[in-house]
Amino acid sequence: MPDPFHMTVEEAATLLRSGKLCAFPTETVYGLGADATDPDAVLSIYETKGRPRFNPLIIHCADRDMAERLAVFSPLARRLAETFWPGPLSIVLPLRTGHGLADIATAGLDTVALRMPDHPLALELLRATGRPLAAPSANPSGRLSPTTADQVRGAFAGKVPVLDGGPCKAGVESTILAIDGDRLIQLRAGALSRETIETAMEQPVERVEEGAAISAPGMLLSHYAPNARMRLDTSPLPGEAYLAFGSPAPHNSLVRNLSESGDLHEAARNLFSMLHELDAAGVQLIAVAPIPETGLGEAINDRLRRAAAPRT
Ligand code: AMP
Ligand code: MG
Repeated sequence: MPDPFHMTVEEAATLLRSGKLCAFPTETVYGLGADATDPDAVLSIYETKGRPRFNPLIIHCADRDMAERLAVFSPLARRLAETFWPGPLSIVLPLRTGHGLADIATAGLDTVALRMPDHPLALELLRATGRPLAAPSANPSGRLSPTTADQVRGAFAGKVPVLDGGPCKAGVESTILAIDGDRLIQLRAGALSRETIETAMEQPVERVEEGAAISAPGMLLSHYAPNARMRLDTSPLPGEAYLAFGSPAPHNSLVRNLSESGDLHEAARNLFSMLHELDAAGVQLIAVAPIPETGLGEAINDRLRRAAAPRT
């Protein structure tokens, strides 16, 4: 039996091929991986995370060939994949006949969200497994996403084996795009900014509207939540922790600064780990500074709004 805390890629691939779960690092956050063609394995992702079954999973591919066997790529889709893969971009595409994915992985939809992660261990693992891997973030549904192997171990009380690749470099989840004819529609803001996509593709990327016909199921208002309550406010009250951006708040005992220099990449990378730290410090309330709504600020603000939303 391999040591669940010191897995090799081969051991992780063997576990995955035998229908077991294994968490692995990607450039965004740690994923809870399962063979996406095995319905029982995928079911254990939903059970382990406590994830609603209507919330489809992103399928990770070793390369574009693997992705093209699962879904139909239009020329625009192919150009996106050529430009941004491997990378933090998930593309929603029509399933190809004979795709072989478990229905539960796509929540029974006729489309699938695919991506090729930009992380050497994730790619090695995908190649060694030889299967597409369903991999949502490796945390209980609705809670903070993990950016280190230790956080994954903590989240599932050491019950899920983890391939350790150190801290994740992007720190927030992938951007999700849908394609409607020649339009690009962002279903979820993420680690690849809309501006970056617009510049490379030389066309606008629309933000999805609430209640739009094209949407991402399972985008819950309360999500990414730490144990502490959060509110968006520049003036922390006595006893409240403060998550700053740029210049820190004075007179506060517990401050974490997402980025003193106001760098949004650094802030995205620090977001979940600082919230994990504040949770670990036993904080009850966190005030959060506003973040500019540009570049990666869109993804950070999306996570902060959901983390601060009333919980059901
Ligand atoms: P997570 O795995 O938690 O990062 O979430 C994946 C998200 O991708 C889901 O919550 C959906 O919102 C979105 N998604 C996955 N598959 C599809 C699909 N076929 N169509 C639209 N959105 C999807
Ligand atoms: Mg998640």
